[in-house]
Order: sequence, then structure tokens, then C-alpha cells
Amino acid sequence: MDRRKRVVLLGATGSIGESALKVIRQHEEQLELVGAAANESWEKLANICKEFNCRKACLHNENAWKVADENGAFPTTTETLSGTEGLCELANMPEADIVLMAVVGTQGLVPALDALKAGKDLAIASKEILVLAGNFVMEVARESGARILPVDSEHNALFQCLEGVSKDHIEKLILTASGGSFRDASISEMENATIDEALKHPNWNMGPKVTIDSATMANKGLEMIEARWLFGVEPAQVDVVIHRQSIVHSMVQCCDGSILAQMSTPHMTFAIQHALLYPDRKKGVTPSLDFSQAISLDFEPIDLRKYRCLALARSAMEAGGVTPGVFNAANEIAVEAFIQGRISFLQIASVIEKTLESVDNVEPRSLDAVLEYDLLARKLAKDFIEKATA
Ligand code: MG
Repeated sequence: MDRRKRVVLLGATGSIGESALKVIRQHEEQLELVGAAANESWEKLANICKEFNCRKACLHNENAWKVADENGAFPTTTETLSGTEGLCELANMPEADIVLMAVVGTQGLVPALDALKAGKDLAIASKEILVLAGNFVMEVARESGARILPVDSEHNALFQCLEGVSKDHIEKLILTASGGSFRDASISEMENATIDEALKHPNWNMGPKVTIDSATMANKGLEMIEARWLFGVEPAQVDVVIHRQSIVHSMVQCCDGSILAQMSTPHMTFAIQHALLYPDRKKGVTPSLDFSQAISLDFEPIDLRKYRCLALARSAMEAGGVTPGVFNAANEIAVEAFIQGRISFLQIASVIEKTLESVDNVEPRSLDAVLEYDLLARKLAKDFIEKATA
């Protein structure tokens, strides 16, 4: 590209957003931020727009938008929007080349599809999009020829390892997992785990929802489902191994037994920079591994009795249809209840299991059907929590 690549950043004020801004700041000769969106952190978003001179901004939360407007927070050169329509307008900006989707939850689904339909590259960090609607999303990308560039460290690693590997040579995709906050805890210690203990991730600095998901490994479950869609493999070809250093971000095992791995220090800037500059590479924002120091890499099999959420995710992936979305919705509700102190850590898996058992699986024919099941699963999960805490 003979001009700067124009980036739209949806989810600019979260931890992925902050890392993305670091990358854009360091590579201002290659990258230009033209649009940015946040849920409700209007002051942070306004400052981003000032610093990067954004043409458009969106606050998903209408009230936050009103407060920002009353305070004259945004520069006059930035057009401000709100709601899902606002996110879609940003995803559709004619001047944008790439949309980085880091919006939490299902709110990113429709804007992501809009970006793909418009033929824009989609750098994807939000898990829900592929977990709920992997089939639809990949189909839209195939039709428009848009590229999907994974930003999650595991999928970005697989993407990098797969360059030059033809699809029929893939034996297995092996996702690495740190094991989260309780990797050295026994099941009975996990039973009494407090919220603060669950929020202490050994390697990665992430938001609370992802940190809890990492402790239960629901996160790795969602990542297996994403990997399956992103790389078009069968559920049985996706595997997980515990790797406590979070240096190998994932591996590809080829049919001849060779295993390719991608490594770096555990910082999100590596994956984000790779996706934003792809196929180009420039100097990284964060120092990589220093081999003048001793480095050990450990790999351990997973005890599924400890990580029941991972086993449930695997069965949801194998079932297909609306089941992965049901898993995701029930997990979100259960994690929220755990953070509120209403259920215990191990009850997160029980809520998911009960919700999965009470929904009959179907193959969704539309995005609306996917979202209907998402709502249904949330309601069922809430009912189970009510009953358990009554
Ligand atoms: Mg990850």
C-alpha cells in the first residue's frame, strides 16, 4: 500500500484497544486511526480522538454519548455517533482499510459482518463473533474476499504457523493454555476460591471476564471453537495443552509429525501489530525473548475434572448448531454471578452444564435465530442461578 493503512478501532478503551493504540502510535508512518468506538468511557475516547485526529467516533451507550455531547468532549472535527448503528457506520467507513474488532460481548457481531460485507479486512479480537456465528461470518468473508486476521494470541500464532502449510497437511491445531489462576490448585481449593484469587492471572494482564474465563478454561473452550471456524478444520483436529510460561502461543502439527510453534513474550502487542501491518512486518513495540537468559518451556496434559468448562466447550463444539452460542451465553451469566459473589467458582461449570442440557440443538438459519438462542440461554442460566441461590 503506497499510503498509510486506515484503521477503525472498535473497543478502543479496553485492554486490546490500549495495546492497539501503542502499536498505531509507534507505526504512524504505516497506520492511521480514522475511527474509534467505546462502550461508555467517553473521556478516554474523546482523548483518543484528539490525539489521533479521528474522523468518526462512536459511544455505544446512548447516555454516555449525551453526557459527552453536553460536555463538548470531542473535537469539532470528529463526527460522533452512538448505538449499534454508530458501530456499523464506523465498520462501514468508506476510507477504512481494516477494522479491529475488540468490542466485548455480542455487540460486535453485526458491525463485524458489515465490515466483511464491505470487503474490509477484519482483525478480530472479540470471541463471540466466531463462537456464535462462525459459519455465517466465514461465508460472508468468502463471498466478499475480505480477510479475517486473528488478534487473539493463540489464533494469531496458528495463522502465522499456517502460512506455507497446505490445509490437507494439517493434522492438528494445538492451542496452548496457561492454566490460569488455579493451575496449581486442587479441586477442593478451587471449590472455595475467592473472586480476588480468580482474578490473579499468572502471565497475562487482561480484563476481569477473560481472567475468570482463563481460570475456568472456558476461555480456551471458546478459542477451540473459534479456531475450528477460522481455519476450517474438524472439531477433532483442535487440541489444547497446558504451557505455563505463555511463550509458545500455539502450535500446528503437520501430518508428517512436524510441529510448528510461534513464540514471543506474553504481550498482546505482538498479535495486534501482526494483524494490523499484515503482510508487512516492522520493529515490535514490546521486547521479545532474550536468549541470553535461560528460558524453560513446559507442556502438561489437561485434567478435565479440574477444568469442566473446557470439556463442556468441547462437547458444544462437536454438537455445532446453536450449542456453542448457548455455552457462551450461559458462561457469561455464570461468570457475572460469580463476580457478584452469588455462586461459587465451580458452580460456573454447573450453570453452563444445566443450560446446555435444557436447550434442544438446532442449526440456525439466520443471524436472528442465533441471537434468539443467545437470549434464551441467558434467561435459562439466570433461572438456574436464582434457584441455586434461593
Ligand atoms: Mg487467548
